[in-house]
Amino acid sequence: MIDLHSHTTASDGLLSPAALLDAAAAAGLTVLAITDHDTTAGYIEARRLPAGRLEIVPGIEISAVHDGRDLHVLGYFLEPSSPTLAAFLDRQRTDRRRRVLEMTERLELLGHPIDAQPILDAADRGRSVGRPQVANALVAAGHVRSRDEAFQRFLEHGGPAYVPRRGASPAEVIRIIHDAGGLASLAHPGVYNRDHAIELLASEGLDAIEARHSDHDAVTESRYRRMAARLGLLVTGGSDFHGNDTHRASSLGVVTLPEEDYTRLRDRALRRGGG
Ligand code: AMP
Ligand code: ZN
Ligand code: FE
Ligand code: FE
Repeated sequence: MIDLHSHTTASDGLLSPAALLDAAAAAGLTVLAITDHDTTAGYIEARRLPAGRLEIVPGIEISAVHDGRDLHVLGYFLEPSSPTLAAFLDRQRTDRRRRVLEMTERLELLGHPIDAQPILDAADRGRSVGRPQVANALVAAGHVRSRDEAFQRFLEHGGPAYVPRRGASPAEVIRIIHDAGGLASLAHPGVYNRDHAIELLASEGLDAIEARHSDHDAVTESRYRRMAARLGLLVTGGSDFHGNDTHRASSLGVVTLPEEDYTRLRDRALRRGGG
């Protein structure tokens, strides 16, 4: 069983890399890609651990900005410590820290002060921070009852505490991933409602789209499979597991990628000289 989308405590996942590997093995996974937001630190830690028969694929989920909105681009089989990639991710995380500071200031003005210090400290230790941690702080301060409410009332695009990201375009992100020897896949396109952008991304070198995802139903998956076939793109997929009791997949091994899709992806990466 193959899962090409997961998060650890290096970004907004609840499980450490070690705990994630244990959970993956317990769920019967054979291949797991660790795709933290804007950092490869979770993968780098995981590959030093005994993984038994679990194959761990180097991955990343990079936040790009397209038409003023975020688009997540997954990278696979890249060299996680490539200097160009590392420098780029460092800038991404610096902008994440700036956003947290500005969101905190806005929340203060709105009469909903939060304690942002632990988030900023985590950023200074190299973690990728962002709205999920701000949402948790809003819950902890008693301003909202749930993370969902925090997003709905304050943090969603256009919300009163929303601060836009200053980031790279999808084309730049695709180039950075290719530069590090990896393949680029558009994450959870069904969440975005911006299918018209996919053809452009394909012309900019996108390799795949994430047709299979815990936020996609069967109809959505087949729509993206047809689109991938039409545009000559590969298909990726995974749970987007962040830990139990968070949003999205709440357990591993439920949303997985068929073997033949994975084989095509891995073969393409090998032919490109990555992997
Ligand atoms: P950021 O990287 O700071 O823009 O935060 C985006 C992340 O917030 C996404 O990757 C999701 O993991 C999470 N997220 C987005 N919407 C929600 C929501 N409604 N409830 C909980 N988490 C969310
Ligand atoms: Zn996340
Ligand atoms: Fe995402
Ligand atoms: Fe994700």
